[in-house]
Parts: sequence; C-alpha cells; structure tokens
Amino acid sequence: MRQLRIDGERLWQSLMELARIGATAKGGVRRLTLTDVDREARQLFARWARDAGLALEVDGVGNMFARRGGTDPAAAPVAMGSHLDSQPSGGKFDGAYGVMAGLEVLRTLNDAGIKTRAPLEVVSWTNEEGSRFTPVMMGSGVFAGVFPLAHVLAQKDVDGIAVGEALKAIGYAGSAAPRRLGAYFEAHIEQGPVLEDTNTTIGVVQGALGQRWFDAVITGQDAHAGPTPMDLRKDALLAASRLVLEVNRIARAFPDYARGTVGFMQVKPNSRNVVPGEVRMSVEFRNQNDDTLSEMVAALRGSLKAIAAECRVAIALDEVTHFPPCQFDAAMVGSVRDAAAALGYTHRDIVSGAGHDAVYVARVAPAAMIFVPCEGGISHNEIESAAPQDLAAGCNVLLYAVLARAA
Ligand SMILES: [Zn+2]
Repeated sequence: MRQLRIDGERLWQSLMELARIGATAKGGVRRLTLTDVDREARQLFARWARDAGLALEVDGVGNMFARRGGTDPAAAPVAMGSHLDSQPSGGKFDGAYGVMAGLEVLRTLNDAGIKTRAPLEVVSWTNEEGSRFTPVMMGSGVFAGVFPLAHVLAQKDVDGIAVGEALKAIGYAGSAAPRRLGAYFEAHIEQGPVLEDTNTTIGVVQGALGQRWFDAVITGQDAHAGPTPMDLRKDALLAASRLVLEVNRIARAFPDYARGTVGFMQVKPNSRNVVPGEVRMSVEFRNQNDDTLSEMVAALRGSLKAIAAECRVAIALDEVTHFPPCQFDAAMVGSVRDAAAALGYTHRDIVSGAGHDAVYVARVAPAAMIFVPCEGGISHNEIESAAPQDLAAGCNVLLYAVLARAA
C-alpha cells in the first residue's frame, strides 16, 4: 500500500488535453461557464469518467458527480473535485486541477484493484468563477443550501440569458437528487506566493479568510486649485489617501492573516487644477478570525471621524458583503497533513485568501483543501503555471487522504 502512487504523467496529459478546450493564444483558457466550450470540457470529463467505469449524475444546477462504488453502499461518498469553468482570461490549472486530480485518484485505484468501503465521487461544480453569472461558487452554493435553486436559475448574463436556459442549451440541466457527502477534498493551486516563497510543496489548508467589503463615498467640495488656500480646502482625495494608509496600517497591525485593500477609486472631477470634491472607493478587510475582523472594521470606523474632521469632508462607509471565515474540519485537515508527512513532502499550514467551492461544501460536509505552488503565485491569468511534479505530489496527498477517509 505504501508504494501506491498516482500517475503524474497521465495527470499532466489530462490537464493539457483539457486545456485545449477554450485555449487562448497566450497559453491560458477562456472557458466561461455554461458556454459551448464549457459543454465540451464537461463532455470530455464525462467520457473519461465513463472510461474509468464511473456512474455519472448531474443535478439541477449542472453539478456533475462521477461515482465509483464502495463495498458499503450505505456509506456516504467521499468526494473530490473543483470546477471546469475559468475566468475570461484564465489559466490551465485553476479548478481543472482539482477535477483532474480526483479523476486520477480513481484511475489509480482502478489500476491497483483497490476497493474502498465508502463510494468515491469526483465532482465538477458549476460556475465557480462567477464571471458570466453571479453569484460566484454558484453550484457548490446551491448544493450547500446557501442559494435557492430557483433563484440561481433565474440569474441572467449581460445578454439576458438565464442560467436555467444556458443549462438546457448545453444539455446539463440534470435532475439528480440532493445527496449527502461523507467528506470532501479539494486540490487546488495556491493562487498566491507563499508556498513558492518558502520552498514548500504542499499547503495544508486550515480554512479560508472571512471577508468584509465596503463602499466608501467621501464628499468635500470642488474648488479652484489656485485661489483656494490649503487650510480652506475640502479635499476628498486627501481624505481618501489617508483612508488608504489607514487600511494598510490596520491590516499590518492585526494578527490572524489580516489583509486590507483599496482596489477601486473614482475621483471627481478628476481635473488637474481642481481640488477633488468627491471620491468613491472600495475598502475590503480579510481575516481568519471573525472577532479580529470586527476589530479591524471598528478600528477603521474609529479613525474616520478624525480624517473627516481634519480634511473637512464627510465620509460614508457602507458594508456591501460579509463572508464569515471558514475553518475546515480538524480531522480532515489532519488527514491531509498526515498524508503529506507520510509521503515525505515538505508541507506547511496555510490559509486560503480566496473563496473556493470547498468553503461552501464545508457547511454541509467535513471538508479540507490541498494547495500546491503556482509559478510566481500568479492565477486568474493566462500565464498561470504549475510544475508537473508539484501537481503530482498534491494528487498523491489527495489519494492518501481519501483512502484514510474511505478505506
Ligand atoms: Zn478555482
């Protein structure tokens, strides 16, 4: 049993063949959810699943479940997966890796003639990326009961096409009954720089950061840049600048993987010789601990008054999104760590700064994730890249973690 390993070459070839569907000139993929290229990718996955002797089911939001039976049919399945859709200019590995790694685990068990007690499933979740239809993580969200199916089916893209219509058009409006998963593992590229920076092969993912997003509107007064003395200005951009510094200061001052970002800003009237009278900007904080996240928000609110007074402006801060932090199941995380250690891979605990299907699935089943490095930490980009040996290592960890759970 200790010698059992996945076939890294077969995994790589599958990823490369899949990446031809929706391939872009710069080496990435454009595979928006529920389009013809998404259908092609789904059909390829379905063909490979059939070839591996798996039974395929599709549910009402188009999630695909490819099942390998266990010796105890009453046992809840141990599932692996991720997503096959991509960003408009996405990479070959984001999502695709988790689905192909799951398939490779089942191919390996087939080759070795190993039966498990619990059934095993590979899941491809619909519309993780959220670029054609919102919300993001749609399929796993419906599965976990976060969004009602009818609500999601009515969501429209910019051309007015609804999710329900698009599902029917590509032939993936299924009817599989809701199922209970005994466990869910998701292998994914890190999409950040930590593993590469620390020369680590496997990230043992503890959970995902909670997120609080705000829209800020700062109102001052447009004024001529020449005749208006510094003391008499109501400069909205000066206040915005101080807010940016404050967000950065707070994120650096707090523990638990704190992040603080201002990524969007609109300046009015945006003219060289006018003191800016209005700024609209985004503010977001992330943290692994919901209480710490609240303290960060309180710290920001606490400094707003002083900034507003000193800059003689009004600042309105509206919360638009609050995702609570996700802590993965301790025993599941332990089986990932044990597998990495037993296989002799360098590994470290890590948190996900981004959302993933596993975050929603974790609300209804014990879940965990396995991260592998990606070059330069770059993702959501056509140049996204990962090393074959790292992808194989993550897949071996997936294999042993799944066996620990299902054997
Ligand atoms: Zn992804």
